Amino acid sequence: MPEVVIDFPRDWVEFDNPADPFGERFRCDLTWLTSNWTCIYGNGCKGIYADRPNDGCCSEGALYSDKKDEERVLKFAKKLTKSQWQYFDKAQPKKKGGKLKISEVDEDGDRKTRKVDNGCIFLNRKGHTAEGFTGDFGCVLHHLAQSEGVHFVKTKPDVCWQLPIRRSFEKVDLGDDVEVSITVIGEYESRGWGPGGEDFHWYCTSNSDAHVGKEPVYISNEAELTQLMGKKAYAELKQICDARMEIKRAASPKLLPFLLEHPATTLARKEAAARSE
Ligand code: SF4
Repeated sequence: MPEVVIDFPRDWVEFDNPADPFGERFRCDLTWLTSNWTCIYGNGCKGIYADRPNDGCCSEGALYSDKKDEERVLKFAKKLTKSQWQYFDKAQPKKKGGKLKISEVDEDGDRKTRKVDNGCIFLNRKGHTAEGFTGDFGCVLHHLAQSEGVHFVKTKPDVCWQLPIRRSFEKVDLGDDVEVSITVIGEYESRGWGPGGEDFHWYCTSNSDAHVGKEPVYISNEAELTQLMGKKAYAELKQICDARMEIKRAASPKLLPFLLEHPATTLARKEAAARSE
C-alpha cells in the first residue's frame, strides 16, 4: 500500500520529567505512540531501496551516536561466532589481537558500522548458506540479543534500536529570560533520515502495511521508550496513553475525530475490514 502523506495533524502532550521537574519537559506525539505500527522485517517489509528488498533499513549501515555507542557494539560483536555471523571472516583483524573491523567513516567524517556487499556488516543476507553457518537472515546483533536473553537495546547501535522513535531536543523561550528544554519523542519519518529519505522507494512508519501491530507503539516499544526517557517519565507517558486508549474505546463516533489517529493505522483497519467482507 502507498504511504499516507506525512504532513497530517497530530495530538501532542507535554509533561515535566518527574525525575527532573525543573530541568526537562517532554513533548510526546500521542498520534504516533498510540498507533499500531510494528516492524515487519521478514514479514512484508519491502526494504528502503527497490533493488535491496531484503535489507529492511540496514542497507547503509548505522551511524554511531557517540564513542560509547561504538564501544558497546564492539563489545557485543566480539561475542559473535562464525556459525551466527555471515561476515565473521571479513570482520577479523589483520593482526592477531587487533580490533574487529566493524566500523568505517562516512563521507561527512562520521563513524558508522561498516558496509560490506552494499549492506551493513551485521546484516546476514537472506538465502546465505555456508559450511557451519547456522544463523538466520537479518541483524545478527538482534539475534545475539535473543540468544543471550537480553533486549536488543543492549546489543544494537543506538540509532537501530531507537528507530522508528525519534528523540530530538528543543529550547523554548518563555520570555523574561526563562527557557525550557524540551525533549521531543516522535515518529522517525522518512525525512528524519535527511536528504536520502526522499529517495526511499518504501518506508514503514506511515505505511498501512506496517500498522498491523497487536499493541500500540507505547506498549510494544516499552523498553526503547524507557531507555530514551527514563523509568519515571515512561510511567507517566504510559498513564496518559492508557487514558487516551480508554477514552477512544468509550467515545461516541461523533467525538472520535477529535482524537487524532495516525492515518496509516486508520487505513490499515479499513483494509482489514474490506478483506474480511
Ligand atoms: S523498521 Fe521499517 S524499514 Fe526497517 S526493517 Fe522494520 S519494517 Fe523494514
